[in-house]
Amino acid sequence: MDDAKKRTWAEISLGAIEHNYRAMRARLSPGCRYLGVVKANAYGHGAVRVSRLLAELGCDYLAVACLDEAMELRRAGIKLPILILGYTMPGYAPVLAENDITQAVGDYATAQAMNDALAGTGRKLKVHLKLETGMGRTGFRAYGETELDDAVKAVKLPRLRPEGVFTHFCVSDGDVGVRDFTWEQLSRFRAGFTAIEDRTGERFEIHHCTNSGAMLSFPETYMDMVRPGVALYGLYPGTDRGDVELIPAMSLFSRTAYVQRHAPGDTISYGRTFTVERPSDIAVLPIGYADGLHRALSNKMSLDFGGRRARQVGRICMDMCMADVTGLGVKSGDVAEIFGRTVPAGDVADLAGTIHYELLCAVSPRVPRVYVD
Ligand SMILES: *Cc1c(COP(=O)(O)O)cnc(C)c1O
Repeated sequence: MDDAKKRTWAEISLGAIEHNYRAMRARLSPGCRYLGVVKANAYGHGAVRVSRLLAELGCDYLAVACLDEAMELRRAGIKLPILILGYTMPGYAPVLAENDITQAVGDYATAQAMNDALAGTGRKLKVHLKLETGMGRTGFRAYGETELDDAVKAVKLPRLRPEGVFTHFCVSDGDVGVRDFTWEQLSRFRAGFTAIEDRTGERFEIHHCTNSGAMLSFPETYMDMVRPGVALYGLYPGTDRGDVELIPAMSLFSRTAYVQRHAPGDTISYGRTFTVERPSDIAVLPIGYADGLHRALSNKMSLDFGGRRARQVGRICMDMCMADVTGLGVKSGDVAEIFGRTVPAGDVADLAGTIHYELLCAVSPRVPRVYVD
């Protein structure tokens, strides 16, 4: 038996990721770049392994959330350009430049502090300007009362090399009606970068704004580069499938430890939230919230034993959970799928009152990743 499959593991299909990459790549015009979002350990799939695969497939750029994630990839020998989407303390600008890491910049104070930190290093830092077009999060404001003066000043800082400009959509994965605000964001983005380019007399090399939602629903956004995350891992961000067939790459499995017989009146797990009503076989699975199985799913989800569905019962503990396998013939050693190809992650996420993104990211470092294909 594969040693990694002795308890709880996440099976990652590299073939599925390759399929998803190619399916989306096929929609792009030849000159359009593809940035693979591998933040949060590639949405739980393993950032180094996924980045190596993407490099082989001809991916042009990678994106992560923070410096440590970027350095993990550089240390593993990943040579592709890497964009940090989130904040980095300005004092680290020389580290970014030395490691050829591109930084998102969305305010003048940080841009200026980074420029200052680079004094005397003889290096320039590649940056992508972030424009705030309605997400209400980060970036130079590109609508209403605008601070594009600041963006123009940032572009002119001598030790920064502005290679790209981007924005981020907040409802591109929404239903028809909801997602229409994307058009407004797109027009604010275009007006914003055009104004900056007109005033500086320099065109950005890479304009990008396409997350997974826009990848599927708004081909008009593709520009010079697309930036899908969750779709690469085979999950649709919303209800629109955009005529692209995606294959979920991760399946989470756990191997039954024990099956115990219980009598009516017995209660299961902390808080006694489940009472046995008939003679029952209760399986104990070595997966809990420390592995990423949200406690909020307690008494709500079911587990799939090769087509036989067992209700999860009692509170999900840190390292274990229980399932009612009465009449299913489940025994010690039998494997259950928690989510993946048979049980869609989105369905489990609904039960927990969250989204599948969070389920993927929650799979903890304790869970070995087993790569197939
Ligand atoms: C996470 C992220 C993405 C990818 O989003 P998906 O919905 O997973 O495609 C793209 N751009 C930015 C700025 C992000 O933070």
